[in-house]
Amino acid sequence: MVLRVEKAIVIGAGVVGVATAYALARRGVAVTMIDQREDAGLGTSYANGGQLSYLYTGPLANHRLRSELPGLALHLNPAFRIRLHTDPDFVRWILSFLRNCTRSRYRRNNASALEITLESRLAMLSLLQKHALDFDYQVKGRMQLLYTEKAIAGVKEHLELKRKYEEDERLISFEDAAELEPALTSADDKPLKVLWSPSEAVGDASQFARSLLETLKTDYGVETLFGERILQANLHSSGADIRFEDGRRLDTELLALCTGADRFLMKQLGLDVPLYPMKGYSITAPLGDAPPNISLTDTKRRLVFTRLGDRIRIAGMADLGWTHDTPDPARLRVLTNSAIEALPAAAAYERATELWAGLRPMTPDSNPRIARPHPALIYNLGHGMLGWTMAMGTGERAAKLAVPETDL
Ligand SMILES: Cc1cc2nc3c(=O)[nH]c(=O)nc-3n(C[C@H](O)[C@H](O)[C@H](O)COP(=O)(O)OP(=O)(O)OC[C@H]3O[C@@H](n4cnc5c(N)ncnc54)[C@H](O)[C@@H]3O)c2cc1C
Repeated sequence: MVLRVEKAIVIGAGVVGVATAYALARRGVAVTMIDQREDAGLGTSYANGGQLSYLYTGPLANHRLRSELPGLALHLNPAFRIRLHTDPDFVRWILSFLRNCTRSRYRRNNASALEITLESRLAMLSLLQKHALDFDYQVKGRMQLLYTEKAIAGVKEHLELKRKYEEDERLISFEDAAELEPALTSADDKPLKVLWSPSEAVGDASQFARSLLETLKTDYGVETLFGERILQANLHSSGADIRFEDGRRLDTELLALCTGADRFLMKQLGLDVPLYPMKGYSITAPLGDAPPNISLTDTKRRLVFTRLGDRIRIAGMADLGWTHDTPDPARLRVLTNSAIEALPAAAAYERATELWAGLRPMTPDSNPRIARPHPALIYNLGHGMLGWTMAMGTGERAAKLAVPETDL
């Protein structure tokens, strides 16, 4: 039986936690948000690629990747590396990832991820109708730059899977793309084709988390506790409690675990969620002489270029098997050099203000896990490469598990 909840603690104030808090609060739940950092949006949500990629969900595990796997383990691809080791969690994860590298699993995983992103788009639009949030949100479309026939075939398959949704997305020539986005003309390396998705959006996820949290505090009475790491969570028949580093204890009716790639509490609670970090990097720089207005995904270099107000965010790199978020200067150089190679005039690279690394909370099938395994616990975890995009939709799904019947 699903019990209705009046009071909850949301652990983790990344985009997923803040979206979950919003979905709970507007269902009448009294929410307290807790994070070990000093504010919202300072974990993996801090300097991600900024793309709200509602239409392109492409799971990492796919049949086309299988032939590349030995090269990834040997670090032959500068943008995507796998470091093999014997951590049992990693071994389990990688075996499950391999099982998902089939055409049928890819199709299934893609379809379920797409359902979430489309729900997210609706939830975001409905949020923005109710509340004016400040996070450099823009709907200027997205271009996926395709350099090989293999990449074009992948996109065609993806478009085929989405046909029933009748979204406006099309493959166009480089010349047509350059007319829409003149910044592309500065590239020496021209893509063969471009997937143009005019309805896609961008925004700064970290700013969003802080802006939405302000609204939650002022309009929904949400309380916050920052700078406090939770060391223990206990579930009882009548609720839950958490313990902080200094031994203090807080009781609640419901815990909502939105702890991103940090697996500590998940393990302490004995949750069997197949989650492993995948490290990525970004730089944020002032605009260059030819900055793109449209968000660009360079599929060859696994990079995204996103204009956020008067800044360009360039994000990418997939390092699987690295579990600390400390930026490696060598990897940042690889990212910057690939970006310069792709679009030399997009950003004032030498004046980059933010050099960052973060851990994507990956599941083997690139789908998040949302469940209520105990009356006093929901979790909303494993958003991987698309947590910013999926946050609003998964927040709604998680809150419905606690307060299912509300007519909003
Ligand atoms: C380089 C890069 C580029 C990306 N680009 C995009 C993109 O363009 N579009 C997109 O959709 N997604 C993108 N992502 C993915 C996206 O950023 C993540 O999926 C998303 O930020 C995850 O959000 P989260 O709220 O789950 O985690 P986080 O933002 O990490 O939040 C989890 C929070 O939980 C807190 N926490 C954990 N444990 C505890 C504890 N015990 N006590 C107290 N607090 C705790 C942490 O401090 C943290 O603030 C990118 C990721 C990377 C790394």
